[in-house]
Amino acid sequence: MVRARPLMTAAVLALAVPAAGQDQDFSKVEIKTTPLAGSVSMLEGSGGNIGVSVGPDGVLLVDDEYAPLVPKIEAAVKKLSPQPIRFVVNTHWHGDHTGGNGPLAKEQVVVFAQENVRKRMSAEQFNAFFKHATPAAPPEALPIVTFADGITFHVNGDDIEVIHVAPAHTDTDSIIFFRKANVAHAGDIFFNRIYPFIDVSSGGSINGMVAAADLILGRIDDQTKVIPGHGPPGGKADLKAYRDMLATVRDRIQKAIREGKTLDQVVASKPTAEFDAVWGKGFLDPGHFVALIYTGLKQ
Ligand SMILES: [Zn+2]
Repeated sequence: MVRARPLMTAAVLALAVPAAGQDQDFSKVEIKTTPLAGSVSMLEGSGGNIGVSVGPDGVLLVDDEYAPLVPKIEAAVKKLSPQPIRFVVNTHWHGDHTGGNGPLAKEQVVVFAQENVRKRMSAEQFNAFFKHATPAAPPEALPIVTFADGITFHVNGDDIEVIHVAPAHTDTDSIIFFRKANVAHAGDIFFNRIYPFIDVSSGGSINGMVAAADLILGRIDDQTKVIPGHGPPGGKADLKAYRDMLATVRDRIQKAIREGKTLDQVVASKPTAEFDAVWGKGFLDPGHFVALIYTGLKQ
């Protein structure tokens, strides 16, 4: 059984459950800034990694973590640019990536996202794996510009291309390519050196995650910096290792399902064994990751 520890530990909730930010203590969170290439940097605080484009046209953010962190995020951005934040693009609907939307929108920042982000944020969502309900977001936190397939920003000397991919981590995901800077933000399609969460209740799928990783790999080169949704910034080789880990684990679990194996049997067979030292120390331990893939493939 997957009973090694309670399924809903604080750590699990903090990452996976969109509304968890409400109960978290953000007072000690510090925002770490990593310049990546050209006008693009990455911010890490609590929640999903933020991509930042700065320049004469104003600041564009990819994701905005949690509402209480907005003043700290703004202070970090101020150190990169005197220009105001003008645009936010959400990679997907989860609250650890969209929590800052409301306070930023109050400051006239325009929030963009794929139309399913707005749809899912507009109504209560129930996550079957964590057995957790997320209430609808307040109206001011909803993206006010939505798109179906993609959108491109021509700002700060760059072409910032936003492409919807689905189903992947959810059915709301976008990948962002900063073309000139040669940086990609993969959102939660890529967890770097952490077993990823796949939100099957929000339309996500392991097969879609592998396909989305392949799509990114086909559009980047060895010099591209890749911002993951969670974990340290990476490059093409990191994303490739992640993609191969996902595909290998999926194929093993799919085979076991075809052979009629139960979840307990599959967890006991340790289909992630050689990956656990690198990937299994983060948000999902190996048993929970296997359970997630197994239940997703069974549906
Ligand atoms: Zn997510």
